[in-house]
Amino acid sequence: MLIRVRELELHKVEFDENFQPGAIELGIEVRQVGPLHSDGRAELIVEHRGHQQNVEDIRLVGNVKARLEFSCARCLDPVGHDIDRSFDLIYRPLGVDRRADEVSISEAETEIGYYSGEGIQLEDVLREQILLALPLRVVCSEACRGICAGCGKNLNVESCACEQQPPDPRWAALADIKNKLK
Ligand SMILES: [Zn+2]
Ligand SMILES: [Zn+2]
Repeated sequence: MLIRVRELELHKVEFDENFQPGAIELGIEVRQVGPLHSDGRAELIVEHRGHQQNVEDIRLVGNVKARLEFSCARCLDPVGHDIDRSFDLIYRPLGVDRRADEVSISEAETEIGYYSGEGIQLEDVLREQILLALPLRVVCSEACRGICAGCGKNLNVESCACEQQPPDPRWAALADIKNKLK
């Protein structure tokens, strides 16, 4: 759904949309389960910057809800996760803030994005909001035993004989790097 500046010049635009899985590209690590729902409104905020320069900012206020599915970071089993995020965003025409001192809205209070062309694509906004709401790491359970680095068996389901043997040196090297990054 394209939210057009020309239409916002006439009136506010309200939206109440459902997006089927695939309509919004979320990347390979996340799967959308069922429709993604978003409702809210868009309006124009005109900034008067002197010398008859008017900047048409789009303010977008709304909410996005979705049920997503991840792979457990340890065992790769699917894990469900609900997203319910409210947003209040300002989009400014790309190129009007060329000088840093032109910024007149405090970034601390409102997130500012930029739009170009006729307006903003709601799908792009929702994708960004969902990605911001994603947890960094999902596990099916804190007690998840993960996958054996030696033989690849899911240790929640079965045990293996590897435990007595030293771990694969390639995985040990990786674990070492991970520890250094912490
Ligand atoms: Zn797991
Ligand atoms: Zn094993």
